Amino acid sequence: MHIYSPEQKIEHPLYSLKNLEVYLKRDDMIHPFISGNKWRKLKYNLERAKRENKSIIVTFGGAWSNHLLATACAGATYQYKTISFVRGEDISNPVLDMCKLFGMELRFISREEYKDKNLLFENLENKTECFFIDEGGASLEATYGCKELIDELTNKYDHIFCAAGTGTTVAGISQGIADSELKTQLHVVPVLKNGGFILDEIAKYNAPTDQITLHLDYHFGGYAKVKPELIDFIKNYIQATGVMIEPTYTGKAMYALHDLIQKDVFAVGSKILFVNTGGLTGLLGQLGKFD
Ligand SMILES: *Cc1c(COP(=O)(O)O)cnc(C)c1O
Repeated sequence: MHIYSPEQKIEHPLYSLKNLEVYLKRDDMIHPFISGNKWRKLKYNLERAKRENKSIIVTFGGAWSNHLLATACAGATYQYKTISFVRGEDISNPVLDMCKLFGMELRFISREEYKDKNLLFENLENKTECFFIDEGGASLEATYGCKELIDELTNKYDHIFCAAGTGTTVAGISQGIADSELKTQLHVVPVLKNGGFILDEIAKYNAPTDQITLHLDYHFGGYAKVKPELIDFIKNYIQATGVMIEPTYTGKAMYALHDLIQKDVFAVGSKILFVNTGGLTGLLGQLGKFD
């Protein structure tokens, strides 16, 4: 399937003040539900499921997971039944309701049970028909899909910025940078506390880490946590650019980019690409924070 994810130059007073060119890779435009990096992460997993003649995709996630919704929609699109193990008590929210609308079967399980995903998979009734996809879509196949982002680029960039949860997406991007022999520096913004583990994740996929800079101070207290300055920043960014970002991933990474620009970390004339990984459906649970 052909995807649409243009590179868009963004006009912003800060960029002209500091003489920088900042582009967005609009992965958020790939698909409204199979959004951004989740599309890239599912691509080769679904191909493998097809090769292995599996008919059921089984995956895992929290109650607001962009990955669950992406899997639910991809399942409906490509004729797979989908089952997900959802961490925590039985609840309903707009994201889970949309998962169900796409036909996904939700199984709520305790945080304790959730820890052993392999056991949950092994105990499935019709295991031989099932294909396992880890939380967030994390897998070697997922890195192959993310690597393709680099092949699509029409400009050469000095720096690429990207948010990281599991680190799978940046592992793929890092591999792409190496394979294309680019000098680009990859700036990774973990959205969880103690995000140093991201480097181990990248190394686990045998992707290079020498052109990576980790920015560990932009988690704002932890996963899906926010602070007033983050909320204000996101509001201002959306109003200055017309591009929607959200507080869990892209908002934190964009805050990091702007903070580092303000601190004159980048040489005058630098060309920077920010990967807009999408995930806007998560906003449905966070709009109240913008009041
Ligand atoms: C899942 C997600 C990420 C994190 O991707 P990883 O491969 O887990 O690091 C980043 N941005 C958005 C919008 C996401 O939904």
